[in-house]
Amino acid sequence: MGKPTGFMEISRQDRKYMLVADRTQHFREFVIPMADEEVRKQGARCMDCGIPFCHQGCPVNNLIPDWNDLVYEDNWRKALDTLHSTNNFPEFTGRICPAPCEAACTLNLNDDPVTIKTIECAIIDKGWQSGWVKPQIPQHRTGKRVAVVGSGPAGLACAQQLARAGHAVALYEKADRIGGLLRYGIPDFKMEKHLIDRRIAQMQAEGVIFRPNSHIGRNVPAKKLLDEYDAIVLAGGSEQPRDLNVPGRELKGVHFAMDFLPQQNRRLAGDTIAEESCISAQDKHVIVIGGGDTGSDCIGVSIRQGAASVTQIEILPKPPVKENKGLTWPHWPNKMRTSSSQEEGCERDWCVATQWIEGENGQVKRIHCVRLDWRQEGGRWVMHEIHGSEFTLPADLILLAMGFVHPVREGLLSDLGVKLDERGNIQATTVNYQTSVDKIFTAGDMRRGQSLVVWAIREGRQAARAVDEYLMGSSDLPR
Ligand SMILES: Cc1cc2nc3c(=O)[nH]c(=O)nc-3n(C[C@H](O)[C@H](O)[C@H](O)COP(=O)(O)OP(=O)(O)OC[C@H]3O[C@@H](n4cnc5c(N)ncnc54)[C@H](O)[C@@H]3O)c2cc1C
Ligand code: SF4
Repeated sequence: MGKPTGFMEISRQDRKYMLVADRTQHFREFVIPMADEEVRKQGARCMDCGIPFCHQGCPVNNLIPDWNDLVYEDNWRKALDTLHSTNNFPEFTGRICPAPCEAACTLNLNDDPVTIKTIECAIIDKGWQSGWVKPQIPQHRTGKRVAVVGSGPAGLACAQQLARAGHAVALYEKADRIGGLLRYGIPDFKMEKHLIDRRIAQMQAEGVIFRPNSHIGRNVPAKKLLDEYDAIVLAGGSEQPRDLNVPGRELKGVHFAMDFLPQQNRRLAGDTIAEESCISAQDKHVIVIGGGDTGSDCIGVSIRQGAASVTQIEILPKPPVKENKGLTWPHWPNKMRTSSSQEEGCERDWCVATQWIEGENGQVKRIHCVRLDWRQEGGRWVMHEIHGSEFTLPADLILLAMGFVHPVREGLLSDLGVKLDERGNIQATTVNYQTSVDKIFTAGDMRRGQSLVVWAIREGRQAARAVDEYLMGSSDLPR
């Protein structure tokens, strides 16, 4: 612990955002990095707790107090090595992780946790700028071949760990570019895509072969992988969106969020979207249904595309402005949060259900909603429509962002015959990540259901160790 009195002398400061009026003119990142000296001061606030609750909050078990201290001591190089020892891609989490570590930080008891995420991002950004991030080419090759299916954060982390253990790894991806939801889903203003490209280059140098445009179970038979590889890791994400079964769902202008968001990623990558399939929010009254990350991303993209208005409706009740720390800490609390996109200018409404969607000439025009009363009945929350509370909103574009129910079953999963759990995800434990079929493993959203990038990285790393143990009898890879 570099500065024992740091937490008493220095107040919490965090990265600022560009002004709304400026940042909504473009799709680039808008978080303003902190100067090194300020980051060091923030590192000095860490108390190096006897029980570092931040560790418990962090799914990849980042060694947070260690690198906080190293940054304070101006030893950025060692801080980078410490950070990389638990996280393959801290530049991703340093930008888009909700930071459960900060909720768990002891200093959060009085609302000003250490700025862990900002320090993490500063370390890795400096690492790249300084040329310290190099390929880690294995000293020996095992002669074993592993196929990883899906190139999101779980597949990438898994492939990188396995390649570093000396296995010959091929990463199969159905999309034309690598990255999963990091590439096609999460908007560029939250995370620019060149960050993925430089990791791909690093991984190629480490020996990973990337095979985009390879849809396993469609244009590449699943059996081919079984025949050609010693182990297979399924990291295909949770791609089946939750639908809205109300009259009018079929109207033009009602889309899943994941039909809308990737188009903008593609435009920014230089692709042209065919006019007939183009979904644009320009000059439209946009309704976003669903209050999570995906919904927020729809808001930010719609505003940048020039929407006439954006309204987000949520079926659940409005959360409390402030949590009761005595009850919630060190866990992730349910409380009112406003994302940067929501701050950019959208109306939000809670306890609202959609009754039906009205159209004219096949095109959506209005959405008909009703207010809800949530009551506890028999130990569970039950929603009731409030009679007479019906209302209507103008709607030219409705984006469904109500989450994802489970992985897509047709093709890959049905061809391989892996067992599913009661939620419809692939059945496997976090001890060995093995599916019901020999030599097939699984990780990330495909196993745990819709989750976070940091959980996907954790599962990818742990699954890599499990595969290494399976192939070699033991493993030096960290869990
Ligand atoms: C719009 C949106 C915004 C989000 N924002 C955040 C955020 O800000 N912070 C955060 O932590 N999390 C966020 N999440 C969640 C996060 O992106 C996911 O939890 C994470 O990407 C899961 O990683 P994964 O590797 O398991 O799967 P994915 O990232 O979904 O990657 C799976 C990949 O597998 C490929 N694939 C699937 N089937 C096949 C097949 N048969 N053959 C070949 N390839 C296949 C898919 O094309 C995809 O590229 C967001 C999710 C969405 C949808
Ligand atoms: S809980 Fe907070 S103060 Fe304690 S070690 Fe972790 S980051 Fe530092």
